[in-house]
Amino acid sequence: MILINENYPKLPGSYLFSDIAKKVNEFKIAHPDANVIRLGIGDVTRPLPPAVVQALHSAVDEMADSASFRGYGPEQGYDFLVNTIVENDYKARGLDIAADEIFVSDGSKSDTGNIGDILGLDNIVAITDPVYPVYVDTNVMAGRAGEFVDGRWSKLVYLPCTIENDFVPSLPKSKVDIIYLCYPNNPTGTTLTREQLKIWVDYALENKALILFDGAYEAFITEDDVPHSIYEIEGAKEVAIEFRSFSKTAGFTGTRCAYTVVPKAVMGYTKSGEAVSLNKLWNRRHTTKFNGVPYVIQRAAEACYSEEGKKQVKATIDYYLNNAGIIRAGLAEQGLKVYGGVNSPYIWVKTPDKVSSWGFFDYLLNDLHIVGTPGVGFGPSGEGYLRLTAFGTLENTKEAVSRLKKISI
Ligand code: PLP
Repeated sequence: MILINENYPKLPGSYLFSDIAKKVNEFKIAHPDANVIRLGIGDVTRPLPPAVVQALHSAVDEMADSASFRGYGPEQGYDFLVNTIVENDYKARGLDIAADEIFVSDGSKSDTGNIGDILGLDNIVAITDPVYPVYVDTNVMAGRAGEFVDGRWSKLVYLPCTIENDFVPSLPKSKVDIIYLCYPNNPTGTTLTREQLKIWVDYALENKALILFDGAYEAFITEDDVPHSIYEIEGAKEVAIEFRSFSKTAGFTGTRCAYTVVPKAVMGYTKSGEAVSLNKLWNRRHTTKFNGVPYVIQRAAEACYSEEGKKQVKATIDYYLNNAGIIRAGLAEQGLKVYGGVNSPYIWVKTPDKVSSWGFFDYLLNDLHIVGTPGVGFGPSGEGYLRLTAFGTLENTKEAVSRLKKISI
């Protein structure tokens, strides 16, 4: 008899985006002429930078010639990309990360999900709340989350991030072993300063805990006191794994390339207390279960770091940040409380008095024909908020903001 992983049926299903799609479809059927603007999506809309496209073309040509054709590549990534990452994302910031601490992959979603493979099931996991759902769901699948009771997983430690604490999570009251931190944050768009992040690194050092630091939105950082890498914090190389992605940085959501940094100094422990290098374990997992990112895609990712590539990537980020500024200003003008959007493509808005996340979603859809994402979909502390994204076109963003001026709820 085939036994299943009984953790899977515990997952309540990915209702958030299917519920949104259902409501939008119903609305469109009832109002076929309405121009619905989607500010709910987390996907980008700008095309790949020209330098990336050029690199892709020439890499494809290389694959067409027997002299330059490449077959299986190193699972950890080709040297040309790994060394470029080390130079640009770390050495240029004064950070000492070695090439064999970088693992190129097809996405931070995969890596933040798969990292649990090398971690014991008895670890107590803390997540910020609201949160990127992948951290939660993959721990449910592994069996670390317990049971889903009243909208919460019984074994997860929730770290609320709300207006009350300025979206800065407090240290957990009970001891935890694994902490997911995502900064700049999805969905709140908020950040931690170096000082605030240091508190977590110190906690991890003191408690032999591991920080899984998701920097998928690093490219959007504009403020000086916001760290670009957790390794800017002293001691982080002993306790943190960092995830980075080209998805939102350079429009790679459909092209797929990311990387994960597992410093050799980060240790996990056996039950008998023996220290084991997580770099070694991840290398074993990665080379066994992952085939590597295609050569042509790695050449495309490398092109993001050329002089032209950097300018073009920055222009795309600036385009989205400009949208974010427009949305922020438009909402603030209506007297709404707005967060994020300065170091992030996400704008997190407090719903008007006593209106729920879904209530505000319905109002925006039905009255203003704008689609957002109800904050409660990201966790219990997201109730009373709504997420808007800056990934739309400038025209749609401006049009949405002109409609927001009519808010009367
Ligand atoms: N991490 C966060 C916080 C995200 O919001 C996303 C995508 O929305 C990802 C990771 C996924 O990144 P990737 O496209 O590299 O899988």
